[in-house]
Amino acid sequence: MEIKTAKPKVDPSDYYRTDELSLTEEEKMVRDTARAFVKKEILPHIQTWDKGVIAPFKSQEEMIRSTARKVAENLGIFGLNLIELGKYSGDASFEPISHTAYGAALRELEAGDSTLRSLISVQSSLCMFAITRYASEEQKKKWLPVLHRGEKLACFGLTEPQGGSDPGNMMTTAIKKGHAWVLNGNKVWITNGFADVAVVWAKTSEGIRGFLVEKGTPGFSNRSEEKWTFRAGVASSLSFSKCEIPEENLLPQTVRPPGKDLASPLSCLTEARYGICWGVVGAARACFEEVLRVTKERNMFGVPLAQKQEVQRKLVWALNEIENSQMLSYQLGRLKDQGKLSYAHVSMAKYNNVSKACEVARMCVELLPADVFTFDAYHSGRHFRNLEVVKKYEGTHEVHAFVVGREITGYNAF
Ligand SMILES: Cc1cc2nc3c(=O)[nH]c(=O)nc-3n(C[C@H](O)[C@H](O)[C@H](O)COP(=O)(O)OP(=O)(O)OC[C@H]3O[C@@H](n4cnc5c(N)ncnc54)[C@H](O)[C@@H]3O)c2cc1C
Repeated sequence: MEIKTAKPKVDPSDYYRTDELSLTEEEKMVRDTARAFVKKEILPHIQTWDKGVIAPFKSQEEMIRSTARKVAENLGIFGLNLIELGKYSGDASFEPISHTAYGAALRELEAGDSTLRSLISVQSSLCMFAITRYASEEQKKKWLPVLHRGEKLACFGLTEPQGGSDPGNMMTTAIKKGHAWVLNGNKVWITNGFADVAVVWAKTSEGIRGFLVEKGTPGFSNRSEEKWTFRAGVASSLSFSKCEIPEENLLPQTVRPPGKDLASPLSCLTEARYGICWGVVGAARACFEEVLRVTKERNMFGVPLAQKQEVQRKLVWALNEIENSQMLSYQLGRLKDQGKLSYAHVSMAKYNNVSKACEVARMCVELLPADVFTFDAYHSGRHFRNLEVVKKYEGTHEVHAFVVGREITGYNAF
Protein backbone atom coordinates (compact mmCIF):
# COMPACT_ATOMS: atom_id res chain seq x y z
CA MET A 1 0.00 0.00 0.00
CA GLU A 2 1.37 3.41 -0.93
CA ILE A 3 1.77 5.65 2.09
CA LYS A 4 0.57 9.20 1.50
CA THR A 5 2.58 11.78 3.42
CA ALA A 6 1.93 15.49 3.81
CA LYS A 7 3.79 17.74 1.34
CA PRO A 8 6.30 20.16 2.97
CA LYS A 9 5.66 23.85 2.40
CA VAL A 10 9.38 24.61 2.22
CA ASP A 11 12.46 22.73 1.05
CA PRO A 12 13.85 21.36 4.32
CA SER A 13 17.18 20.60 2.60
CA ASP A 14 17.84 24.29 1.96
CA TYR A 15 15.59 25.99 4.50
CA TYR A 16 17.15 29.45 4.41
CA ARG A 17 17.78 29.10 0.66
CA THR A 18 21.51 29.62 1.17
CA ASP A 19 22.42 27.27 -1.68
CA GLU A 20 19.87 28.84 -3.97
CA LEU A 21 20.98 32.41 -3.28
CA SER A 22 24.68 32.07 -2.48
CA LEU A 23 26.00 29.70 -5.13
CA THR A 24 26.67 30.81 -8.69
CA GLU A 25 25.40 28.64 -11.54
CA GLU A 26 28.91 27.11 -11.93
CA GLU A 27 29.09 26.41 -8.20
CA LYS A 28 25.68 24.75 -8.34
CA MET A 29 26.97 22.51 -11.13
CA VAL A 30 29.91 21.43 -8.95
CA ARG A 31 27.51 20.69 -6.08
CA ASP A 32 25.09 18.80 -8.32
CA THR A 33 27.83 16.70 -9.88
CA ALA A 34 29.04 15.67 -6.41
CA ARG A 35 25.48 14.92 -5.29
CA ALA A 36 24.82 12.79 -8.39
CA PHE A 37 28.12 10.95 -7.91
CA VAL A 38 27.19 10.01 -4.35
CA LYS A 39 23.75 8.84 -5.41
CA LYS A 40 25.10 6.64 -8.20
CA GLU A 41 28.47 5.42 -6.96
CA ILE A 42 28.37 5.53 -3.16
CA LEU A 43 24.90 5.14 -1.66
CA PRO A 44 24.15 1.78 -3.32
CA HIS A 45 27.34 0.26 -1.80
CA ILE A 46 28.26 2.13 1.34
CA GLN A 47 26.22 0.06 3.80
CA THR A 48 27.83 -3.18 2.64
CA TRP A 49 31.32 -1.64 2.53
CA ASP A 50 30.76 -0.35 6.04
CA LYS A 51 29.78 -3.88 7.07
CA GLY A 52 33.09 -5.14 5.68
CA VAL A 53 31.64 -6.82 2.56
CA ILE A 54 33.73 -5.35 -0.25
CA ALA A 55 33.54 -7.93 -3.08
CA PRO A 56 34.39 -7.76 -5.97
CA PHE A 57 37.32 -5.84 -4.46
CA LYS A 58 39.96 -8.05 -2.86
CA SER A 59 41.04 -5.49 -0.30
CA GLN A 60 39.99 -2.16 1.15
CA GLU A 61 42.99 -0.63 -0.56
CA GLU A 62 41.70 -1.80 -3.96
CA MET A 63 38.24 -0.43 -3.13
CA ILE A 64 39.61 2.98 -2.09
CA ARG A 65 41.88 3.23 -5.13
CA SER A 66 38.95 2.42 -7.41
CA THR A 67 36.78 5.06 -5.68
CA ALA A 68 39.59 7.61 -5.97
CA ARG A 69 39.86 7.05 -9.72
CA LYS A 70 36.09 7.43 -10.11
CA VAL A 71 36.16 10.60 -8.00
CA ALA A 72 38.88 12.03 -10.25
CA GLU A 73 37.14 11.03 -13.47
CA ASN A 74 33.69 12.29 -12.46
CA LEU A 75 34.49 15.32 -10.32
CA GLY A 76 38.16 16.14 -10.94
CA ILE A 77 38.06 17.42 -7.38
CA PHE A 78 41.52 16.46 -6.13
CA GLY A 79 43.19 19.83 -5.61
CA LEU A 80 40.52 21.63 -7.60
CA ASN A 81 40.45 24.66 -5.28
CA LEU A 82 44.25 25.09 -5.40
CA ILE A 83 44.97 27.89 -7.86
CA GLU A 84 48.67 26.89 -8.03
CA LEU A 85 47.65 23.49 -9.38
CA GLY A 86 46.87 25.09 -12.75
CA LYS A 87 50.56 25.11 -13.64
CA TYR A 88 51.11 21.47 -12.68
CA SER A 89 47.81 19.63 -13.19
CA GLY A 90 48.85 18.41 -16.64
CA ASP A 91 45.39 19.41 -17.86
CA ALA A 92 45.27 22.38 -20.27
CA SER A 93 41.59 23.00 -19.46
CA PHE A 94 42.17 23.10 -15.68
CA GLU A 95 40.00 25.79 -14.04
CA PRO A 96 40.19 26.08 -10.26
CA ILE A 97 36.87 26.34 -8.42
CA SER A 98 36.10 28.70 -5.54
CA HIS A 99 36.66 27.49 -1.98
CA THR A 100 32.92 27.85 -1.47
CA ALA A 101 32.17 25.50 -4.37
CA TYR A 102 34.79 23.06 -3.06
CA GLY A 103 33.09 23.18 0.35
CA ALA A 104 29.64 22.60 -1.14
CA ALA A 105 31.01 19.57 -3.02
CA LEU A 106 32.55 18.15 0.17
CA ARG A 107 29.21 18.62 1.91
CA GLU A 108 27.55 16.45 -0.75
CA LEU A 109 30.31 13.84 -0.57
CA GLU A 110 30.10 13.55 3.22
CA ALA A 111 26.33 13.10 2.90
CA GLY A 112 27.47 9.81 1.33
CA ASP A 113 30.05 8.90 3.96
CA SER A 114 32.67 10.70 6.05
CA THR A 115 35.36 8.34 4.73
CA LEU A 116 34.71 9.60 1.19
CA ARG A 117 35.15 13.22 2.25
CA SER A 118 38.24 12.16 4.20
CA LEU A 119 39.75 10.58 1.09
CA ILE A 120 39.44 13.93 -0.68
CA SER A 121 40.53 16.02 2.32
CA VAL A 122 43.70 13.97 2.79
CA GLN A 123 44.62 13.83 -0.88
CA SER A 124 43.77 17.48 -1.68
CA SER A 125 43.95 19.58 1.44
CA LEU A 126 46.64 17.82 3.44
CA CYS A 127 48.94 16.40 0.76
CA MET A 128 48.45 18.32 -2.51
CA PHE A 129 48.28 21.56 -0.53
CA ALA A 130 51.54 20.62 1.25
CA ILE A 131 53.16 19.93 -2.12
CA THR A 132 51.93 23.13 -3.81
CA ARG A 133 53.07 25.18 -0.80
CA TYR A 134 56.30 23.48 0.33
CA ALA A 135 57.68 21.32 -2.50
CA SER A 136 60.39 21.92 -5.12
CA GLU A 137 59.55 22.33 -8.82
CA GLU A 138 60.64 18.74 -9.50
CA GLN A 139 58.50 17.38 -6.66
CA LYS A 140 55.47 19.36 -7.87
CA LYS A 141 55.90 18.12 -11.44
CA LYS A 142 56.30 14.54 -10.29
CA TRP A 143 53.37 14.29 -7.87
CA LEU A 144 50.69 16.90 -8.57
CA PRO A 145 49.42 15.60 -11.96
CA VAL A 146 49.12 11.97 -10.83
CA LEU A 147 47.50 12.94 -7.53
CA HIS A 148 45.06 15.24 -9.32
CA ARG A 149 44.05 12.39 -11.65
CA GLY A 150 43.67 9.95 -8.73
CA GLU A 151 46.24 7.62 -10.34
CA LYS A 152 48.34 7.79 -7.18
CA LEU A 153 47.31 8.36 -3.58
CA ALA A 154 49.06 10.32 -0.85
CA CYS A 155 48.84 10.18 2.95
CA PHE A 156 49.84 12.62 5.66
CA GLY A 157 51.87 11.34 8.61
CA LEU A 158 51.87 13.67 11.60
CA THR A 159 50.21 11.93 14.59
CA GLU A 160 52.31 9.79 16.90
CA PRO A 161 51.24 7.52 19.78
CA GLN A 162 52.64 9.81 22.51
CA GLY A 163 51.89 12.98 20.51
CA GLY A 164 48.22 13.14 19.56
CA SER A 165 46.99 16.64 20.31
CA ASP A 166 50.56 17.67 21.11
CA PRO A 167 52.36 17.11 17.78
CA GLY A 168 55.36 19.14 18.96
CA ASN A 169 56.10 16.15 21.21
CA MET A 170 57.11 14.16 18.13
CA MET A 171 59.74 11.44 18.36
CA THR A 172 60.19 10.62 14.69
CA THR A 173 63.59 11.88 13.62
CA ALA A 174 65.30 12.55 10.31
CA ILE A 175 69.08 12.71 10.36
CA LYS A 176 71.15 13.93 7.44
CA LYS A 177 73.64 11.32 6.16
CA GLY A 178 75.62 12.47 3.12
CA HIS A 179 73.08 13.01 0.29
CA ALA A 180 70.31 11.20 2.16
CA TRP A 181 68.01 11.54 5.16
CA VAL A 182 67.50 8.65 7.58
CA LEU A 183 64.07 8.43 9.23
CA ASN A 184 63.27 6.54 12.45
CA GLY A 185 59.96 6.55 14.32
CA ASN A 186 56.27 5.67 14.24
CA LYS A 187 53.10 7.41 13.11
CA VAL A 188 49.61 6.23 14.02
CA TRP A 189 46.09 6.62 12.63
CA ILE A 190 47.24 7.69 9.20
CA THR A 191 44.40 7.75 6.66
CA ASN A 192 45.30 5.62 3.62
CA GLY A 193 48.69 4.67 5.03
CA PHE A 194 49.08 2.28 2.08
CA ALA A 195 49.40 5.28 -0.26
CA ASP A 196 52.06 5.71 -2.96
CA VAL A 197 53.65 8.64 -1.18
CA ALA A 198 53.55 9.80 2.42
CA VAL A 199 54.03 13.42 3.48
CA VAL A 200 55.91 12.72 6.73
CA TRP A 201 56.80 15.20 9.45
CA ALA A 202 59.98 14.53 11.42
CA LYS A 203 62.34 16.29 13.84
CA THR A 204 65.65 17.37 12.33
CA SER A 205 68.54 19.45 13.69
CA GLU A 206 66.71 22.47 12.15
CA GLY A 207 63.30 21.71 13.68
CA ILE A 208 60.31 19.82 12.27
CA ARG A 209 60.53 19.36 8.49
CA GLY A 210 58.36 17.64 5.89
CA PHE A 211 59.53 14.73 3.71
CA LEU A 212 58.09 12.75 0.81
CA VAL A 213 58.51 9.04 1.53
CA GLU A 214 57.62 6.74 -1.34
CA LYS A 215 55.90 3.42 -0.88
CA GLY A 216 58.36 0.54 -1.08
CA THR A 217 61.29 2.48 0.37
CA PRO A 218 63.31 0.00 2.48
CA GLY A 219 62.64 0.55 6.20
CA PHE A 220 59.14 2.01 5.59
CA SER A 221 56.11 -0.19 6.38
CA ASN A 222 52.43 0.22 7.26
CA ARG A 223 49.79 -1.82 9.05
CA SER A 224 46.07 -0.98 9.03
CA GLU A 225 44.01 -0.75 12.25
CA GLU A 226 40.76 -2.64 12.94
CA LYS A 227 38.03 -0.17 13.92
CA TRP A 228 34.29 -0.06 14.67
CA THR A 229 33.76 3.24 12.89
CA PHE A 230 35.00 4.86 9.65
CA ARG A 231 34.77 1.32 8.36
CA ALA A 232 34.81 2.18 4.65
CA GLY A 233 38.18 3.87 5.18
CA VAL A 234 41.66 2.72 6.13
CA ALA A 235 43.80 4.19 8.90
CA SER A 236 47.27 2.77 9.42
CA SER A 237 50.34 2.85 11.59
CA LEU A 238 53.46 3.84 9.68
CA SER A 239 56.85 2.63 10.81
CA PHE A 240 60.24 4.02 9.80
CA SER A 241 63.27 2.01 10.72
CA LYS A 242 66.59 3.29 9.34
CA CYS A 243 64.51 4.41 6.37
CA GLU A 244 66.87 6.17 3.99
CA ILE A 245 65.40 8.61 1.50
CA PRO A 246 67.22 10.81 -1.03
CA GLU A 247 68.06 14.40 -0.13
CA GLU A 248 65.70 15.68 -2.85
CA ASN A 249 62.69 14.20 -0.99
CA LEU A 250 62.89 16.87 1.71
CA LEU A 251 60.15 19.52 1.24
CA PRO A 252 62.49 22.51 0.89
CA GLN A 253 60.03 25.25 1.86
CA THR A 254 59.23 23.75 5.29
CA VAL A 255 62.16 25.54 6.89
CA ARG A 256 60.90 27.86 9.68
CA PRO A 257 62.39 30.08 12.40
CA PRO A 258 63.07 28.30 15.73
CA GLY A 259 59.86 27.65 17.70
CA LYS A 260 57.65 28.09 14.61
CA ASP A 261 58.34 24.73 12.99
CA LEU A 262 54.81 23.35 13.50
CA ALA A 263 53.43 26.10 11.28
CA SER A 264 53.93 24.04 8.10
CA PRO A 265 51.96 20.92 9.12
CA LEU A 266 49.37 23.07 10.91
CA SER A 267 48.77 25.11 7.74
CA CYS A 268 47.82 21.88 5.95
CA LEU A 269 45.48 20.94 8.80
CA THR A 270 43.71 24.30 8.52
CA GLU A 271 42.99 23.51 4.85
CA ALA A 272 41.54 20.10 5.68
CA ARG A 273 39.54 21.38 8.66
CA TYR A 274 37.91 23.92 6.38
CA GLY A 275 36.52 21.02 4.33
CA ILE A 276 35.37 19.22 7.47
CA CYS A 277 33.31 22.24 8.53
CA TRP A 278 31.34 21.86 5.29
CA GLY A 279 31.36 18.10 5.11
CA VAL A 280 29.70 17.40 8.44
CA VAL A 281 26.72 19.55 7.39
CA GLY A 282 26.13 16.98 4.65
CA ALA A 283 26.34 14.03 7.06
CA ALA A 284 23.92 15.73 9.48
CA ARG A 285 21.57 16.61 6.63
CA ALA A 286 21.56 12.99 5.40
CA CYS A 287 20.50 11.83 8.89
CA PHE A 288 17.85 14.53 9.13
CA GLU A 289 16.36 13.75 5.71
CA GLU A 290 16.22 10.07 6.57
CA VAL A 291 14.50 10.65 9.88
CA LEU A 292 12.09 13.20 8.42
CA ARG A 293 11.00 10.66 5.80
CA VAL A 294 10.67 7.82 8.30
CA THR A 295 8.74 9.77 10.93
CA LYS A 296 6.31 10.95 8.26
CA GLU A 297 5.79 7.44 6.96
CA ARG A 298 5.54 5.55 10.26
CA ASN A 299 2.17 5.47 11.94
CA MET A 300 2.28 5.21 15.73
CA PHE A 301 -0.73 5.51 18.01
CA GLY A 302 -2.90 6.07 14.96
CA VAL A 303 -1.05 9.04 13.43
CA PRO A 304 2.26 9.64 11.64
CA LEU A 305 5.06 9.92 14.19
CA ALA A 306 5.93 13.31 12.67
CA GLN A 307 2.57 14.63 13.84
CA LYS A 308 3.62 14.36 17.51
CA GLN A 309 4.72 17.60 19.15
CA GLU A 310 7.81 16.06 20.75
CA VAL A 311 8.95 14.63 17.41
CA GLN A 312 8.43 17.96 15.67
CA ARG A 313 10.36 19.72 18.42
CA LYS A 314 13.28 17.35 17.81
CA LEU A 315 13.05 17.71 14.02
CA VAL A 316 13.01 21.49 14.24
CA TRP A 317 15.93 21.49 16.67
CA ALA A 318 17.95 19.36 14.23
CA LEU A 319 17.03 21.47 11.19
CA ASN A 320 17.89 24.65 13.08
CA GLU A 321 21.35 23.32 14.01
CA ILE A 322 22.01 22.11 10.45
CA GLU A 323 21.01 25.44 8.93
CA ASN A 324 23.12 27.40 11.45
CA SER A 325 26.13 25.24 10.55
CA GLN A 326 25.36 25.64 6.88
CA MET A 327 25.34 29.45 7.12
CA LEU A 328 28.57 29.33 9.08
CA SER A 329 30.15 27.22 6.31
CA TYR A 330 29.11 29.81 3.74
CA GLN A 331 30.73 32.55 5.79
CA LEU A 332 33.95 30.50 6.02
CA GLY A 333 33.82 29.96 2.27
CA ARG A 334 33.47 33.63 1.48
CA LEU A 335 36.21 34.58 3.97
CA LYS A 336 38.49 32.00 2.35
CA ASP A 337 37.62 33.15 -1.17
CA GLN A 338 38.60 36.68 -0.13
CA GLY A 339 41.84 35.54 1.59
CA LYS A 340 40.55 36.64 5.01
CA LEU A 341 40.07 33.27 6.71
CA SER A 342 42.22 32.62 9.80
CA TYR A 343 43.02 29.27 11.38
CA ALA A 344 41.07 30.40 14.46
CA HIS A 345 37.93 31.02 12.36
CA VAL A 346 38.27 27.45 11.15
CA SER A 347 38.78 26.17 14.70
CA MET A 348 35.60 27.82 15.93
CA ALA A 349 33.61 26.48 12.97
CA LYS A 350 34.96 22.94 13.45
CA TYR A 351 34.19 23.24 17.16
CA ASN A 352 30.59 24.17 16.36
CA ASN A 353 29.73 22.24 13.20
CA VAL A 354 31.17 18.86 14.16
CA SER A 355 29.71 18.71 17.64
CA LYS A 356 26.32 19.86 16.33
CA ALA A 357 26.45 17.22 13.58
CA CYS A 358 27.22 14.59 16.25
CA GLU A 359 24.23 15.75 18.30
CA VAL A 360 21.94 15.75 15.25
CA ALA A 361 23.03 12.24 14.27
CA ARG A 362 22.48 11.04 17.83
CA MET A 363 18.98 12.50 17.87
CA CYS A 364 18.21 10.85 14.53
CA VAL A 365 19.32 7.49 15.93
CA GLU A 366 16.95 8.16 18.84
CA LEU A 367 14.01 8.84 16.50
CA LEU A 368 14.52 5.78 14.28
CA PRO A 369 13.30 2.27 15.13
CA ALA A 370 15.69 -0.29 16.64
CA ASP A 371 16.72 -1.51 13.17
CA VAL A 372 19.00 1.53 13.20
CA PHE A 373 21.42 -0.69 15.13
CA THR A 374 21.77 -3.05 12.15
CA PHE A 375 24.21 -2.27 9.35
CA ASP A 376 21.56 -2.36 6.63
CA ALA A 377 18.36 -0.56 7.55
CA TYR A 378 19.38 3.09 7.87
CA HIS A 379 22.29 5.41 7.11
CA SER A 380 22.03 7.48 10.31
CA GLY A 381 23.71 4.88 12.54
CA ARG A 382 26.79 4.86 10.29
CA HIS A 383 26.97 8.67 10.20
CA PHE A 384 26.57 8.72 13.99
CA ARG A 385 29.60 6.39 14.38
CA ASN A 386 31.65 8.24 11.75
CA LEU A 387 31.01 11.68 13.19
CA GLU A 388 32.58 10.74 16.53
CA VAL A 389 35.85 10.24 14.63
CA VAL A 390 35.48 13.57 12.87
CA LYS A 391 35.10 15.17 16.31
CA LYS A 392 38.38 13.64 17.45
CA TYR A 393 40.61 13.91 14.40
CA GLU A 394 42.09 17.03 12.81
CA GLY A 395 42.19 18.60 16.28
CA THR A 396 39.80 17.43 18.97
CA HIS A 397 36.74 19.42 19.99
CA GLU A 398 38.56 20.59 23.15
CA VAL A 399 41.74 21.60 21.33
CA HIS A 400 39.75 23.85 18.97
CA ALA A 401 38.17 25.51 22.00
CA PHE A 402 41.68 26.25 23.35
CA VAL A 403 42.70 27.76 19.99
CA VAL A 404 39.77 30.18 20.08
CA GLY A 405 40.21 30.73 23.84
CA ARG A 406 43.82 31.80 23.23
CA GLU A 407 42.68 34.19 20.49
CA ILE A 408 40.15 35.98 22.69
CA THR A 409 42.00 35.97 26.04
CA GLY A 410 45.65 35.93 25.07
CA TYR A 411 46.24 33.04 27.51
CA ASN A 412 47.42 29.65 26.30
CA ALA A 413 45.29 26.90 27.92
CA PHE A 414 46.97 23.92 26.21
C1 LIG B 1 40.10 7.53 11.53
C2 LIG B 1 41.23 8.45 11.86
C3 LIG B 1 42.00 8.97 10.83
C4 LIG B 1 43.09 9.79 11.13
N1 LIG B 1 43.88 10.25 10.08
C5 LIG B 1 45.03 10.91 10.37
C6 LIG B 1 45.94 11.25 9.33
O1 LIG B 1 45.68 11.00 8.14
N2 LIG B 1 47.12 11.84 9.67
C7 LIG B 1 47.45 12.13 10.97
O2 LIG B 1 48.55 12.64 11.20
N3 LIG B 1 46.59 11.83 11.98
C8 LIG B 1 45.41 11.21 11.72
N4 LIG B 1 44.53 10.87 12.74
C9 LIG B 1 44.92 11.16 14.12
C10 LIG B 1 44.13 12.28 14.76
O3 LIG B 1 44.43 13.51 14.18
C11 LIG B 1 44.35 12.22 16.28
O4 LIG B 1 43.56 11.15 16.74
C12 LIG B 1 43.99 13.51 16.98
O5 LIG B 1 44.95 14.49 16.71
C13 LIG B 1 43.88 13.36 18.51
O6 LIG B 1 45.00 12.75 19.03
P1 LIG B 1 44.83 11.48 19.98
O7 LIG B 1 43.95 10.50 19.30
O8 LIG B 1 46.16 11.01 20.41
O9 LIG B 1 44.02 12.02 21.22
P2 LIG B 1 44.61 12.80 22.49
O10 LIG B 1 45.40 13.97 22.04
O11 LIG B 1 45.26 11.80 23.37
O12 LIG B 1 43.28 13.30 23.17
C14 LIG B 1 42.53 12.53 24.12
C15 LIG B 1 41.63 13.50 24.88
O13 LIG B 1 42.45 14.42 25.64
C16 LIG B 1 42.01 15.75 25.36
N5 LIG B 1 43.14 16.69 25.51
C17 LIG B 1 44.29 16.71 24.82
N6 LIG B 1 45.07 17.72 25.22
C18 LIG B 1 44.39 18.37 26.20
C19 LIG B 1 44.65 19.52 27.02
N7 LIG B 1 45.76 20.23 26.89
N8 LIG B 1 43.70 19.88 27.94
C20 LIG B 1 42.54 19.17 28.06
N9 LIG B 1 42.23 18.10 27.31
C21 LIG B 1 43.15 17.70 26.38
C22 LIG B 1 41.52 15.71 23.93
O14 LIG B 1 40.68 16.80 23.63
C23 LIG B 1 40.78 14.37 23.94
O15 LIG B 1 39.49 14.54 24.49
C24 LIG B 1 43.40 10.11 12.47
C25 LIG B 1 42.59 9.61 13.51
C26 LIG B 1 41.52 8.80 13.21
C27 LIG B 1 40.68 8.28 14.35
